[in-house]
Amino acid sequence: MNSHGVGPDRDVLKKIYSLYDRAMGDVDVAPVCRKKCSTCCTCNVTLTRLEAGLLMDSLGMEGKKDLGDRIQQRFPEKRYIPRMTTNGFARLCMEDREIPEEENDPAFGACPLLEDGLCMVYEARPFGCRALLSETRCGREGFARVPPLVLTLNTLFLQTIEHLDQNGFSGNLSDMALFLLSGRSFGSNTGNLHGTCWEGLFVHNEQIPMLMVPPKHQRRLKDLMEDLKGLLTGLTSSG
Ligand code: SF4
Ligand code: SF4
Repeated sequence: MNSHGVGPDRDVLKKIYSLYDRAMGDVDVAPVCRKKCSTCCTCNVTLTRLEAGLLMDSLGMEGKKDLGDRIQQRFPEKRYIPRMTTNGFARLCMEDREIPEEENDPAFGACPLLEDGLCMVYEARPFGCRALLSETRCGREGFARVPPLVLTLNTLFLQTIEHLDQNGFSGNLSDMALFLLSGRSFGSNTGNLHGTCWEGLFVHNEQIPMLMVPPKHQRRLKDLMEDLKGLLTGLTSSG
């Protein structure tokens, strides 16, 4: 089976994940998250194509087959299907345009990659999973309690990761994994999926139109924003 996209982008993606871990180490937050606490592992997680490629290629041939079988067996009929990306949302806000309605409910069910409370692709999990934390038990309260600075950090990293894969697309993990495993490709044009069973499942990624960092966090995150910009700029200048 082919590699699902390679090159410098993937190295930058890994650096962005590492930078997030370092940045979170500097944040005053007391998450109650622990092993096998998995209420947050729902079938609604989304990711970029680049992240999905990294996840796929972390698995051997057997692992990919297992992943495909597992998603097919546990395929969530109801799941969050994004109508816009994070940068798309930022652009619509800038343009004062209407935000499309989306349906997203944790009650849609568990992530198909969850086994006995553990993630079967933990090391290669996408940013959407890495960003999950709570200062109170989600299972008990019914929602995650996330400090505002962490929400801002998460949005900043989501915007950067999408920008890195700006010629790609984003979608629900189950759809994206099955799509890549099917061996299909549509480059940067989701229009090629018109009339197929994949139509309407993915959205184009976009460049960052503006960073959604509120004024109260801008000074605190100034160096981090420079570091992220440096990672993206370094990629451009080195081709
Ligand atoms: S985000 Fe919530 S459900 Fe997920 S590990 Fe943390 S406390 Fe548990
Ligand atoms: S991919 Fe792993 S970490 Fe992410 S929601 Fe699924 S089981 Fe949880």
